[in-house]
Amino acid sequence: MNIIKNLSLIKEKIPASVTLVAVSKTKPNELIMDAYDAGHKIFGENKIQDLAKKYEDLPKDIQWHFIGHLQTNKVKYISSFVHLIHAVDSLKLLKTINKEAKKHNRKIAVLLQIRIATEDTKFGMNEDELEQLLINDEFILLNNIQITGLMGMATNTDDENQIKREFSLLKTIFNQTKNNYFVDIPVFKEISMGMSSDYKTAIQQGSTMVRIGSSIFGARN
Ligand SMILES: *Cc1c(COP(=O)(O)O)cnc(C)c1O
Repeated sequence: MNIIKNLSLIKEKIPASVTLVAVSKTKPNELIMDAYDAGHKIFGENKIQDLAKKYEDLPKDIQWHFIGHLQTNKVKYISSFVHLIHAVDSLKLLKTINKEAKKHNRKIAVLLQIRIATEDTKFGMNEDELEQLLINDEFILLNNIQITGLMGMATNTDDENQIKREFSLLKTIFNQTKNNYFVDIPVFKEISMGMSSDYKTAIQQGSTMVRIGSSIFGARN
């Protein structure tokens, strides 16, 4: 695996305005350091224990993104340092993140996960649930979280048109949410969508942040 070459090939293909989260889950520190030494500082993990350990062992100027499903009882292990939590889909979790952020006297940036895939998945909110959350009084009182955008995952399919439609839907929901709730909040600007197999389509549909693992670090076992 030539990580440095993979990274530079991907960077050539994505506009400078799109943030690349290098998804290093299951990969050892040596490989992360290859990318780091080549100048890349933004990495994503989906397991709390792995993220906490890697944070401890690796340079402190890395921006760590948590991209997995987060359980409320584990927020405390990453709340002092996590840069962005990508996949938040409940008020309960937001309240926990807020509480833990407060202990560290910081604001934690989060993306709300929207369910755009047709696949059967428990994760992510539909438009209605998103709306109910954003008008909830308890939500409005959470001062130690910063909602910086939305995140979604397309169906795992070869049907390019379906993937395109799903990403386009997320962009539409983002625009509506921005206009209705975040129009004066410039930090609400991210649409995290696109992985190794579909990031080009995601960028065409308005992604501002892609999460790419196997195309950089190779297949996972
Ligand atoms: C693993 C993972 C990715 C990266 O997937 P690749 O296909 O390896 O690029 C992106 N997003 C999430 C949420 C993931 O869990």
